[in-house]
Amino acid sequence: RNLKKYFPVKGGILQRTVGHVKAVDDVSIDIYKGETLGIVGESGSGKSTLGRTILRLLDPTDGSVLFEGNDISSIKQGKMRKYRQDMQMVFQDPYASLNPRMSVGEIIEEPMLVQRTMGKKDRKEKVVDLLKKVGLSPEARDKYPHEFSGGQRQRIGIARALSMNPKFVIGDEPVSALDVSVQSQVLNLMEDLQNEFDLTYLFIAHDLSVVKHISDRVGVMYLGRMAEIGPKKLIYSNPLHPYTKALLSSVPVPDVNRRREKIKLKGELPSPSNPPTGCTFHTRCPEAHARCKTERPDLVDQGNGQFVACHLYTNG
Ligand code: SF4
Ligand code: MG
Repeated sequence: RNLKKYFPVKGGILQRTVGHVKAVDDVSIDIYKGETLGIVGESGSGKSTLGRTILRLLDPTDGSVLFEGNDISSIKQGKMRKYRQDMQMVFQDPYASLNPRMSVGEIIEEPMLVQRTMGKKDRKEKVVDLLKKVGLSPEARDKYPHEFSGGQRQRIGIARALSMNPKFVIGDEPVSALDVSVQSQVLNLMEDLQNEFDLTYLFIAHDLSVVKHISDRVGVMYLGRMAEIGPKKLIYSNPLHPYTKALLSSVPVPDVNRRREKIKLKGELPSPSNPPTGCTFHTRCPEAHARCKTERPDLVDQGNGQFVACHLYTNG
């Protein structure tokens, strides 16, 4: 609810705070039990920071995070233990997120050791069970991360995240570093595991094609704010926000006769430490008009669960 995460910008020889990067700037979203909410945006849009702030890997600057009705944004970090089990993250880079000096068995077992809820025998059994669930052989536990391919390493990362029996899993670009041919295998695996373990997903990606299959709803972020969010069907068939339209225009369509015209955006993503006034997209928006430079649009429900923050869809 109204989540904000600002990072101070230091400057001058005294390294004083001279401004803030508003990485997440007043985001309110619901994530329903059992669904997959896909979050899409360019790098610098704040999507990873949003994920990390929801999990309290970062403390919010303002706003709150409610998990099953409990406000976890005000709980002291030390008391987060119970929620840490329920909420896990699968990271983008399976190369960097696995300790190269630990065996795969130790990597998957580690969260269980930290939580101290299981005996040794149960932990070992659980490791073997998880390896099978993610499509790896039990022998994998005695090997080291470098002995595996990128896709297999991400399977190890997923097994580790599942070792705590979480309810909610955030995937922060979990397939971005993988070959396209491997991406769909990992996505399918994540879907199967979601069904088997009743998981709720927040799935972060930088383009709309990756989240298309896996998501129930999709949100599009731009400079720390939600530009549009709604049911997948509506976002892909009837995008409303000019930014969503532009992103969608670069997603390949299988039918060559229905090829979309690619919308090219002007310029680069502006610096999040000095965002444009009004609608922060106005410097690049093909449909910007006078009001956009001064007035910030609110995210408004279009009556069908599709929310859009754009003056083209608000009164006047
Ligand atoms: Fe474009 Fe204006 Fe809508 Fe922003 S509010 S997306 S600048 S039309
Ligand atoms: Mg990121």
